[in-house]
Amino acid sequence: EIRKVNESYFGSYSSFGIHREMLSDKVRMDAYGQAILKNPSLLNGATVLDVGCGTGILSLFAAQAGASRVIAVDASAKMASVATQIAKDNGLLRIGNVGNGDEQHKGVVEVVHGMVEDLDKSLQIEPHSIDVLLSEWMGYCLLYESMLSSVLYARDRWLKPGGAILPDTATMASSLYLSLSLSQIFFFCCYTGGLMAFFVFLQFAAGIGRGGTSLPFWENIYGFNMSCVGKELVEDAAQFPIVDVIDSRDIVTDTAVLQTFDLSTMRLDDLDFTSCIELQPRLECHTKSIDTKSGPASCHGIVLWFDTGFTSRFCRETPANLSTSPYTARTHWAQTILTFKEPIALSLEKPNMEKAAVVGTECCPASKIQFRISIARASQHRAIDISIEPSAV
Ligand code: SAH
Repeated sequence: EIRKVNESYFGSYSSFGIHREMLSDKVRMDAYGQAILKNPSLLNGATVLDVGCGTGILSLFAAQAGASRVIAVDASAKMASVATQIAKDNGLLRIGNVGNGDEQHKGVVEVVHGMVEDLDKSLQIEPHSIDVLLSEWMGYCLLYESMLSSVLYARDRWLKPGGAILPDTATMASSLYLSLSLSQIFFFCCYTGGLMAFFVFLQFAAGIGRGGTSLPFWENIYGFNMSCVGKELVEDAAQFPIVDVIDSRDIVTDTAVLQTFDLSTMRLDDLDFTSCIELQPRLECHTKSIDTKSGPASCHGIVLWFDTGFTSRFCRETPANLSTSPYTARTHWAQTILTFKEPIALSLEKPNMEKAAVVGTECCPASKIQFRISIARASQHRAIDISIEPSAV
């Protein structure tokens, strides 16, 4: 079964669309570009391993940065041959043994087709002889479909003691998000008319992003109660995370860090963890959408994202950070949105809320919301299980 999953996984990387998406992701490219190109003391003269090279872009950066040898590995046959061609076309491919005076041997990039786990068979270097390990391994929600386990394997087998790994930190963070308020839904229904609203709410419930609000819609359809449909949709939404961009104006709490991984030292088992977090409601930006008369604001779910760091530990001259937060420019990872089965009320103290509505910028003191979030590798290879429950911290 693992072989089948791998075949479809590497197969998906053989289509150019996903590589185009990654290469067009400026936030991603800038972070890796800065880390590799602007830290000469790290890359100059280094032996580099690029785990999952794809088009080979990170290897090309490393060659440009003055690495003396770059080994680019990809398990997709298609991408290994494409990376070879690209390195060759750019005069960066190393062919055969170095040192016999052949002009073609000027290049430093070698492309190897195969799983990094099988590198022993094809790689003519000693274990623990790599200075810098490069990889772009992050999946949605950091860990979904991620190839981090392969990167850790490569680290333990090939990296020199004290060698660099880029990126070297990864942090998962979360916040709660508001949904459309009831008054907005009501306005929407009146405005667009029954049929149109029906269509739009189906779309929301089907996963466009700010889902979960379909329940009130289904409760009264021309006087008939259709809430069984709404419940089913909400359950589906609660079961499947949505990958989409969250508007930071819809975020109603501060940010809590779930977990920080140190890529130099972490172990595979660290990928299964439970984290207790505390989120402070913070509604100052939302006074327009929160109607004090209709009671407390309800919050429909939790949004997760991650940052990876190229810290000064290895990137001494120019550290970099790759953020997929809703507060920074969007990336192809967007954010991961999880919908609660039931919305939760954000308990605001009325006087403060009215004051906030008047002043517009005042922060409303409200009690903190506590969760226990568990993330674990699922039995199905490359999937993850996420569970979220209220907790007392
Ligand atoms: N480094 C490239 C591509 C990143 S996508 C870039 O930054 O643009 C990840 C790539 O890793 C895919 O091409 C996939 O085929 C490859 N890959 C994933 N797991 C691998 C493994 N265990 N061994 C070798 N390649 C792997």
